[in-house]
Amino acid sequence: MTDLPPLRDVIQRYGLSASKALGQNFLFDGQLLARIARVPGDLEGAEVFEVGPGPGGLTRALLEAGASVAAVERDRRCIPALAELGEAFPGKLRVIEGDALAVDAPALFAGKPHVVANLPYNVGTALLVGWLSAAWEPWWASLTLMFQKEVAERIVAAVDTDAYGRLAVLAQWRSTAKIAMTVHRSAFTPPPKVMSAVVHIVPAAEPEGVKFKTLEALTAAAFGQRRKMLRQSLKGVPGALAAMERLGIDSSRRAETVSVAEFVALARALSA
Ligand code: SAM
Repeated sequence: MTDLPPLRDVIQRYGLSASKALGQNFLFDGQLLARIARVPGDLEGAEVFEVGPGPGGLTRALLEAGASVAAVERDRRCIPALAELGEAFPGKLRVIEGDALAVDAPALFAGKPHVVANLPYNVGTALLVGWLSAAWEPWWASLTLMFQKEVAERIVAAVDTDAYGRLAVLAQWRSTAKIAMTVHRSAFTPPPKVMSAVVHIVPAAEPEGVKFKTLEALTAAAFGQRRKMLRQSLKGVPGALAAMERLGIDSSRRAETVSVAEFVALARALSA
């Protein structure tokens, strides 16, 4: 264990008042941070990509778990605080000042890193969609990400629920997605208006014969009009109605009743 100053002291010393525009809600509870760092599994000797380290609470937990961390932080004010943390773990922390949406993350690693982040809410979904849309096998070993609870529920949603939609299909057609823990709003400084949850996503084998673009077009059309029958919402997708008939998918159903496996089967039929 390292002899680091309490995070609240770090915040005060470096003047890191939370910026709403940057989605800053900091975590200070060491036990909670250690639990999040355990979600990807044993990190001893592993590489981790962290987005938005801020004052470095989660970064510290990841380093203490034995990981080497490359972290992208947009807020320049945090860089000196992170440099101080890096001194306590020589050679283990690289900090990149910049926008995670623009950084070439795979280029930062020789192997496959675990992605771990208490994400800024305003860019969290865009980052996730980017990571899930990457070529498969992905460049990351797993994703451990904090979201607003409502977004987390959409990611892990089962078919035939209100939360089920494009995000669920995207997250589940070639990976498994689970809520690892929920986090009360009071754990953050300042507390956000809503509850949060940590989602754990692990890549699986890609189903054969399915083009990602086709699946994407199908789910966009189907969930773009989620209350309509499939025969209406998929009218504009060439070949979709005939493929549904061949596969025995009733065209009077609505998108939210179509399982991930059924979307995959449809996309496979259309990818041929
Ligand atoms: N990891 C810290 C923690 O758990 O206490 C801070 C989490 S805070 C919710 C989100 C962090 O992401 C902030 O430090 C913010 O400055 C940073 N951030 C916001 N937008 C970003 C972006 N586009 N790229 C990189 N970092 C960003």
